[in-house]
Amino acid sequence: MVERVEAFIVNALVRQALVAAQEVMGENGLNVVLRTTGLERFIGNFPPDNLEPGIQASQYGQFNEAIEEFYGRGGRGILKRIGKASFQYGVNEQPALMGLAGIALKALPQKQRIKFVLNSVADALKKSNPQVEAWAGEKDGKMIYVERTCAICNGRSSDKPICHLYVGSLSEAIKWATGVDFEVRETACIAMGDDYCQFEVGDSIGK
Ligand SMILES: [Zn+2]
Repeated sequence: MVERVEAFIVNALVRQALVAAQEVMGENGLNVVLRTTGLERFIGNFPPDNLEPGIQASQYGQFNEAIEEFYGRGGRGILKRIGKASFQYGVNEQPALMGLAGIALKALPQKQRIKFVLNSVADALKKSNPQVEAWAGEKDGKMIYVERTCAICNGRSSDKPICHLYVGSLSEAIKWATGVDFEVRETACIAMGDDYCQFEVGDSIGK
């Protein structure tokens, strides 16, 4: 495992994840996971919508791991749904953070829209916390999104990519920008020993 600086996640993003997790898992499911990860202080008490440090990145990693374990084989799908709900919460309830309020992308070609929204997600994360290293780009003709400071896999190791919540958020962001579902796959993951987590935008899979 690569040794990482002790990173944290700001309250606004913890709040986003908790609201989304509660929407998908229900209050009881969420509370079980909060208890098993030492985050009981958030039970019925979500953090405020501000940029103060909320939890350590490694705790966020444990939170993701606990959800995956709680649901077993369904865990991956649940985490993707939480990621989608979390982008929706961000775009609707935290417009200042996301910087997407009132943006009209209709005039742009689809690829430009995808590029725009992926850059916006990276910018929002960097704005929330200057420690974050994230960017969008293009590789072998495909749009990619990369984060070197991914918290979802912080402190975890795996032989497969595990940042399912991120996959959900990015696919929802792309759907928001284009009106269409695109396949998003994680093709590198720090948990596997890679230098960063990388997500690749594949083909459109319809509305
Ligand atoms: Zn990751």
